[in-house]
Formats: sequence, structure tokens, C-alpha cells
Amino acid sequence: MKYFDHAAATPPYEDVVRTVAEVMAAHYGNPSSLHKLGEESGRLLIKAREVCAAALGVKPGEIIFTSGATESNNLAVKGAAMRYAGRGRHLITTQVEHPSVWECYVQLEKQGWEVTFLPVDKNGQISVQDALDAVRKDTVLLSVMHVNNETGCIQPVEELGRRLKKEHPRVIFHVDGVQGFGKVPLSLMDSGIDLYSLSAHKLRGPRGAGLLMVREGLSLVPLMSGGGQEDSLRPGTENIPAVVGMAKAIRLAKEGEQQRAGKLNALRKQLIQGLAAWPELIVHSGEAAAPHIVHFSYPGMKAEAFLHMLEEQGFLVSTKSACSSKKAEPSRVLLAMGAGKAEAESGVRISLAEEHAAGDIQELLAAIGKSVDRVRRLKGEN
Ligand code: PMP
Repeated sequence: MKYFDHAAATPPYEDVVRTVAEVMAAHYGNPSSLHKLGEESGRLLIKAREVCAAALGVKPGEIIFTSGATESNNLAVKGAAMRYAGRGRHLITTQVEHPSVWECYVQLEKQGWEVTFLPVDKNGQISVQDALDAVRKDTVLLSVMHVNNETGCIQPVEELGRRLKKEHPRVIFHVDGVQGFGKVPLSLMDSGIDLYSLSAHKLRGPRGAGLLMVREGLSLVPLMSGGGQEDSLRPGTENIPAVVGMAKAIRLAKEGEQQRAGKLNALRKQLIQGLAAWPELIVHSGEAAAPHIVHFSYPGMKAEAFLHMLEEQGFLVSTKSACSSKKAEPSRVLLAMGAGKAEAESGVRISLAEEHAAGDIQELLAAIGKSVDRVRRLKGEN
């Protein structure tokens, strides 16, 4: 089987697997315990926080460990909205966010907040000016993802953050960085980002670990009550093996970012050029897209059926994003981009990794070609 679903989950680095297992076996002490074993775990936690902070270019005190980006996004959005509710009751996000952000805003809207959902253009991008124009006196928070998980579209978060902080410094800026980190450079220092979420398993790290960068001086209402761990923002005994594994994966992701992006971009270009051979496929990921995601629709074709045709030939891809692929509805992201229902129901996502080679892309293209031929035959076109 050839795996082309790296935007859904990545195979962890062998080194990460080894580290997680070693830490799990040897360092089971609770960092809150006062004895030697506890202290050892505590030291690992400090070190992991330093490594993550260095890779992100922030201070160790600004890193909160969580169970993954879903939790990070919930903590960011609900935690900030609740803490700063006194400033106003207006929030802004985009129509194309991941469900872990989108559903937070939908929930807050039901609780009486006013939410502006920014539209996107046909490539899936918001306009920076639209976002700034949407800010009102009572706006508390703005969330914009860095890279879209379905289409790979890159949002102009750096420009937006810089202008937001100049023109409306009180508005809190949250960025879901899950699909961008390690593939699309982003300076957290220079882009006015106050809250930034990551998930380890998208970066060759372990499942069940993530982080939220919370800019110094910003305060959040915790979503859970419990002990005082993670600055009382995320109580519960720390998952030391997963956190140490994540720190390693994040460091490796950052170190190899440029080289990885170059390699992935070449593969992506090859794949997009190859897809042009079949006019019935509509490729969505345009120029402003991340190097690891290629997304196309095949109107009139059920995405799931196409996925299984590829699977029969040994290639694993996604329909929409993994988190929403089991829902029968058309893609909210594609609809927001102006796609019709048939187009929005037939999205296929191919997501690449640095270890893929040009030959793998050729083989995948051949399998896509065979599947398209089969559909054409079924439709009686050939
Ligand atoms: N944001 C984006 C952009 C994602 O792609 C994902 C994972 N599909 C998440 C958030 C949530 O991450 P997790 O499922 O690891 O909590």
C-alpha cells in the first residue's frame, strides 16, 4: 500500500517511537510528586517545553501542552471568549476553518455571541481587508487557520496579524497551525499571533499530544477544572512520553522545513501537471497552497467510490478531510469557495510526505488514470 494521506495522520519517526517507549517505561513518575522519580519527569517536561518553544520561536512559558489541536483550538477560542467577554460580544472567523475551530464558534453563537464568518474567494483565501473591515469596537477574537486541511490553501495570516495589531491591537488573534507547521514558514514573533495550535501526530509525532502557544500576558479561562498543571490552564497529570515525543517531532519538523517544502513542492507540481490529462478533474489547490496537499473534485463521481478504486490499486487517499469524511454532506469548504453541489461532494485529497519519490507520483497518476477510464466506461463515454 502506498500512503497518500499525510494530512490526516503521519507515520511517526522511528526515533520518536523509541523515545516514547523509553520514557514510558522509565519515567512513569508524576511530575507533581516530590520524590526523585517525580523530579526526573518534571525535568523532562521542562526540557520538552524548551525544545517546543525554541522550534516555535517563543518563550517556554508560552507553551501549554494539550491532548491535540482539537483541545488547543477549543481552549483558545472558548477560553479567550470567556475571559474577555467584558470587552464585547463579537467574534470573527472564516467559513473554511477546521471543525475544531468552526464548531466552537457555532456553539458560542448559540450562546448569544455575534460571529462574523469571513467568506473566501474561489481559491479558498480570505481577504485581509475583509477581515480588518469586519472588526468592530466590541470584537474580542479573530481565528484564521494557516493552511486549510482540505485544499491546502494558505491564508495570509502574517499580513493579517501585522495589520491587525497595528490597527486593532486589542483584538486577540488565534491561528490553527496544524497543517502549516514544518511545511510553510511562519514567524510567530513577527505576525501578531496571540494563540497558535499544533497537533503532534500531523508532524510524525505521537497521537494524543498537542500544544497551544499562549502569548505572554494573555489569560484564558480553562475548560476543565482540576490540579494546577500547565499554569492551571490544562489540569490533569501530564502525558510525559507523548510530550517528549512531540518535542522531538516538532524540532525535526522545524529543522527540515525548507528542504521538505522544496521536495514536496516538486512532487506537488508533478502531480498537478499529471492531473491536467483528465479534463473532468477540477484541481482546487492553486498557487497559494501548501506543498503537501493536492485536492481535486470529480463532479458526478462519489468521492468515496473513487477513493476505493484507488485503494484497490494500492493507494490510500482521503475524501474531504479525515475528520469529516464520514459525513455524507458536501464539503463546507468547497461550497464556501463557490463550488456547486456535485463538485463539493466529489473532493479527493492527496497529501504527500517527503519520502515520496517522483516514481510514486507516476504510479499514483497511473492509478488515477485507470480509475477515470473505468468511470468513463461505466458512464458509456468510451
Ligand atoms: N486543525 C486542522 C487544520 C486539522 O487538520 C486538524 C486535524 N484534522 C485539527 C485541527 C485537529 O487535530 P486533532 O484531530 O489532532 O485534534
